[in-house]
Amino acid sequence: MNGPAADLLAGRVVLVTGAGDGIGRVAALSYAQHGADVVLLGRTRSKLEAVFDAIKANGKTQPLIVPADLLHLDEAAADAFAAGVRDEYGRLDGVLHNAGILGRRTLLVHYPVQAWFDVMQANVNAAFLLTRALLPLLNEADDASIVFTSSGVGRRGRAYWGAYAVSKFATEGMMETLADEVAQTGRIRVNSLNPGATRTAMRAAAYPTEDPNELPSPQQHMALYLYLMGPDSKGVNGQRFDAATWPGSP
Ligand code: NDP
Repeated sequence: MNGPAADLLAGRVVLVTGAGDGIGRVAALSYAQHGADVVLLGRTRSKLEAVFDAIKANGKTQPLIVPADLLHLDEAAADAFAAGVRDEYGRLDGVLHNAGILGRRTLLVHYPVQAWFDVMQANVNAAFLLTRALLPLLNEADDASIVFTSSGVGRRGRAYWGAYAVSKFATEGMMETLADEVAQTGRIRVNSLNPGATRTAMRAAAYPTEDPNELPSPQQHMALYLYLMGPDSKGVNGQRFDAATWPGSP
């Protein structure tokens, strides 16, 4: 099977949230490597700067750093961010909603209330606010793609996964609702992607006794991340994808 074309995303502008680390970092690098100008949104400026420098060193695309804590994102901040993307690039062709937090691993009856609100804010509300603010710009693109990041526990609930599981169910609901809304125009496609067990800090926090070397790296999932962001997935809308079963994945 041929790999994704080197210029798959040439001329496109793509936002990646949580672009400083883990899967988001690798997706941002991969999108830039395939020609996209990538907007790097994340919490830790130094991590974003490292990704920015790597992109600048390797290619001709123009990344942009946007340090932002999604725990504090509100309507005004999301609108200002969308205006900034319009000012900088004049277009937006894709969004990878990737940033997320794990929250606590405990029974709902013991779940700390503020931790619950934080997980829902970072994983659900922030994605809603950004999507809402960015939809007018995305609607101006020829074929824009929105990818929501899900999880196995966003498709089947499991004890101790608490707000994280509920937030991923909400993410799937947001994907399906929006996909149905945009289906008529066909200009935007909206899908969800479950990366499955992947070697990152979040996975290590959830499974501290696991050997990370036995897990696939984020890099091994990039064929699916590129497919969903690139023109090959045009017309694919409202679908749930799993990296573990995608051709070419480990
Ligand atoms: P990591 O914890 O490794 O990375 C998460 C990224 O999100 C980091 O760059 C982090 O920034 C950023 N982030 C977290 N909170 C905020 C915030 N409040 N504001 C802005 N940015 C924030 O996670 P993964 O790469 O493992 O996960 C990526 C996505 O994949 C998540 O949505 C996760 O739920 C999902 N997923 C992951 C799986 C896995 O096995 N790894 C399995 C199933 C789903 P910083 O580094 O600065 O803190």
